[in-house]
Amino acid sequence: MALFARRENPPAKSNYREYKPFLRRDFLARCAYCERTEEYLGGDEVFEVEHFKPKSKFTDLICAYHNLYYACGGCNGHKWETWPSGAQIARGQRFADPCLEDPYVHHLRELEDGDVEELTECGVYSNSHIRLGRPELRRWRRLRNQARQDLPKLTAVARLLEQLIVANQGSDGEAAEQLGAIKRRIEESKLRFSID
Ligand SMILES: [Zn+2]
Repeated sequence: MALFARRENPPAKSNYREYKPFLRRDFLARCAYCERTEEYLGGDEVFEVEHFKPKSKFTDLICAYHNLYYACGGCNGHKWETWPSGAQIARGQRFADPCLEDPYVHHLRELEDGDVEELTECGVYSNSHIRLGRPELRRWRRLRNQARQDLPKLTAVARLLEQLIVANQGSDGEAAEQLGAIKRRIEESKLRFSID
């Protein structure tokens, strides 16, 4: 299933950049292609309004909301004005569409070192043009995997500290401070790596 779905129904705009706040919500404040979050990348400034079908080749879609995607500057820059020819599309050489499918299930497989393995022609095409195995994305996947492993452990420590505080009838100030720090760390990690 696709990670992203269109929920917003923005009024027509003459400048496609004005759709950014709507795209931000529809794309869960994450890059459509690498899925990195604003929390991880340091805010919405590094995110751009991307044309899935490039604006130089599909001039009638420049302001079409369904053709606009929320993307980080890195992915947008690599994808740029690329679009496959009819013959390439017939061979399956196209961009995976994160609004219709899950590229990381259907076309690519994430490896332990954070790189991606291409499963289909679509995966090869998407990876070769957006460079989804670039070092900064491998790092993001490794850190996210580590966070997924760490979160249950941090939650268990928080639970132990809570029990300790209850047993000491709330008189353990240091434990309460540690608990606060761990809870902040858990929330920050969930937001940063979009973990439920
Ligand atoms: Zn990206």
